[in-house]
Amino acid sequence: MKVLKFGGTSVANAQNIRQVENIIKKASAESKIVVVVSALHGITDQLINAAESAADQKESYPEILKELENKHLNLVKELMPILAQSAWLSFVKKHFNDIEEICNGIFVLGEFTAKTKDRITSYGEFLSSRIIHAKLQSEGLDASWMNSAEQIVTDSNFTHAKVDAEHTEENIRKYFAENHNRIIIAPGFIAKDKDGNGTTLGRGGSDYTASIIAAATDAEELEIWTDVSGMMTADPRLVSGAKPISEISYAEAMELSHFGANVLYPPTIQPVMAKNIDLRIRNTFDPEAYGTLISHQPKISANENQEIAVGISNMNHIALLTLEGSGMIGIPGFSAKLFQCLNNEKISVILITQSSSEHSITVAINEKDVSTANRAISTSFEDDLKLKRVEPVKIETGLGIVALVGDNMKSRSGVSAKMFGCLGNNGINIRAIAQGSSEKNISIVISQEDIRKAVNILHEEVFESEIKQVHLYICGTGNVGTKLIRQIYDQNEYLKENLSINIRIAGLCNSRKMLFSDKGISEDDFLKLNENGNEFSEENFADEIISRNLRNSVFVDVTASPEVPPVYEKLLKRSVNIVACNKIAASSDFANYKNLKNTARNHNCRFFFETNVGAGLPIIGTINDLIRSGDRINSIQAVLSGTLNFVFNHYDGSKPFSEVVAQAQQEGYTEPDPRLDLAGTDVARKILILAREAGYPLEFDTIENESFLPEECMKGSVEDFYKALFKYEDHFKQLLENAKIDGKILKYVAEFKEGKAKIGLQHVAPESDLFHLYGKDNIVIFKTLRYSEQPLVVKGAGAGAEVTASGIFADIVRSV
Ligand code: ADP
Ligand code: ASP
Ligand code: MG
Repeated sequence: MKVLKFGGTSVANAQNIRQVENIIKKASAESKIVVVVSALHGITDQLINAAESAADQKESYPEILKELENKHLNLVKELMPILAQSAWLSFVKKHFNDIEEICNGIFVLGEFTAKTKDRITSYGEFLSSRIIHAKLQSEGLDASWMNSAEQIVTDSNFTHAKVDAEHTEENIRKYFAENHNRIIIAPGFIAKDKDGNGTTLGRGGSDYTASIIAAATDAEELEIWTDVSGMMTADPRLVSGAKPISEISYAEAMELSHFGANVLYPPTIQPVMAKNIDLRIRNTFDPEAYGTLISHQPKISANENQEIAVGISNMNHIALLTLEGSGMIGIPGFSAKLFQCLNNEKISVILITQSSSEHSITVAINEKDVSTANRAISTSFEDDLKLKRVEPVKIETGLGIVALVGDNMKSRSGVSAKMFGCLGNNGINIRAIAQGSSEKNISIVISQEDIRKAVNILHEEVFESEIKQVHLYICGTGNVGTKLIRQIYDQNEYLKENLSINIRIAGLCNSRKMLFSDKGISEDDFLKLNENGNEFSEENFADEIISRNLRNSVFVDVTASPEVPPVYEKLLKRSVNIVACNKIAASSDFANYKNLKNTARNHNCRFFFETNVGAGLPIIGTINDLIRSGDRINSIQAVLSGTLNFVFNHYDGSKPFSEVVAQAQQEGYTEPDPRLDLAGTDVARKILILAREAGYPLEFDTIENESFLPEECMKGSVEDFYKALFKYEDHFKQLLENAKIDGKILKYVAEFKEGKAKIGLQHVAPESDLFHLYGKDNIVIFKTLRYSEQPLVVKGAGAGAEVTASGIFADIVRSV
């Protein structure tokens, strides 16, 4: 014999029930079966809702009941042959009259007790099972209806009644000894206490009913039919990549369901486990799927799968209670007293941690139990509190639990290191940790807001190690931004295959609009940013990133705006990595620069700005590597401005200087205001950043800057600037001629030596490394402790949207 249980979704409507009927027909062709059913989907909640409304003196409860009644009436109409309908319609109506009468009583008394709750909710399973039974009979199937409430005996702990296993087993055995139908339909969830009062087995308890029947009848197998294809590696509503676990041990399934995998009601496992009966979770809507086989010894263990765990589960609405005090040290009985007083209040303890000094003990409980627990503990420890042996109990709410579960975790080293490492890198703050002594699970308590993120991070780490999901937020869609976005779209496949990362553009903005999508912004949506985006502000963009709280997030600043860097700090504090080609932050006050670097370090994330200097050239990376390996940078000599290089490479006196500058601007090499380049501000920022990265706490205004621009050029608008340039053509010609005299050329050079930086035009001889620089080339010459004779030289294209975008791309990939 087999026991099949169908959950609420499986029996939600006529269409689903027909699907269930097919499964029943097939199964009953092979053996005798017991079919345990839940109430129609959502009915239990709605019955409670009606009764609570009545208790709250809300007049709306009859309407709620009417809606539920109609649901059942419609079901009868859709399922039953016409002739049988009227009897069943009256049947439903009669029972809803009863329910309404109970609710009227609740309304009058203004009181809704646990006992009444069980009476009300039991109608859900009662009605569904009766209707389904009637339907099967009308089809000519050999089916009888068994009232589980008459067979399952419990204590009187209403809403969570405890089963009297012995009497229940006896009843069920007796019933089956006398029953000869091929199919037996039974309601799940409901039972009775010894006095004949209706009780229930706890929310989700139909699974348990089925397991009790399977155990009592020594069934061959218990099948739990639901709306997913088995127990999954994580809650599929949270993790899109969750996959069904094909085989799993009883113990693992128990841990997963205890910590929130609500596909299986936790007590369900015990009865079948005691009888070594296989339990299979199957999908009503995909009956061919293998599902999950839960058994004593699964054939495929996590070890063979090369995975450190079988699944991850999570729970919300958790509170931590901490009892601490010097009086607890070495005195036996404190913990026992705590658990006793929680137990007296029927508060279940989900997780326990105790510091090894025994100075404190922390338990996780359901948030709804907090005030009862607090009261009970305060009463129970009254004397200890008075004598200051313990502190008043500390309560933290708004928490959740994430548990990593697997039988084989104990034989694997480094599991917790891996778990904490990847969570830490994403800024998830762990409030408490518990590891069962059997090492079948490691559970952590974190803020409820971080649950989704944490489960996804862990899932990726353990089950999808082949691919890492990166979420990008790109600020700026100008020249470089657009190139970067194109590169990301073009290279995503390559990255997935070769670097195992999948980059999603989860947010995008320009100076007017912003757009977000957790699943990734498509190329089409990117093109419609201005049409479909929301109003942009730097603060709102950052706040949205923070509230989305997605794993492996990177904020990319592809602007030159001073308004963007002020949001870096709060992003870093939430472990959002920052990649900036915007130089403003790294060249701001030293204290600010340092603070951002420290913030990144303290929050386990990256603040990268390689493209601040030399576009995609590995200049900052080179400095970082030198320093990390113990070298010291003594001097830096560099040509760092693509713009100035272009200008002085093209200026030979044949065309006015102003025309050459205008050409540089047209070709996109200059800042919108070319004075930023020509006056050396940009170069000064770059040498400042290099010096800082080399370990020198330099400030911008200490940089010596010998400007070659006459003062008049610095005044007024960009237009005025060009006019002034033209006016001073002789001055520029003279500069050129002076250099030519001894066969040299003009280069705008930045230097850092002996702790000081300076920038300005220099005459460069042909034998200098700086001489042969063409187009937009940059060069940086490092003299270090190790490279003291022959310097270390980095040279190449140091400007241009495409190379800058590549450099940003490289920073992004390195940051996660
Ligand atoms: P039923 O009404 O059939 O008893 P439940 O709603 O009680 O169904 O349980 C099935 C649901 O459990 C799934 O739809 C899924 O959303 C949720 N769930 C949570 N965690 C898991 C998990 N680890 N594996 C499968 N389902 C899970
Ligand atoms: N109907 C009950 C509930 O919703 C029991 C069950 O479906 O398992 O909790
Ligand atoms: Mg369920």
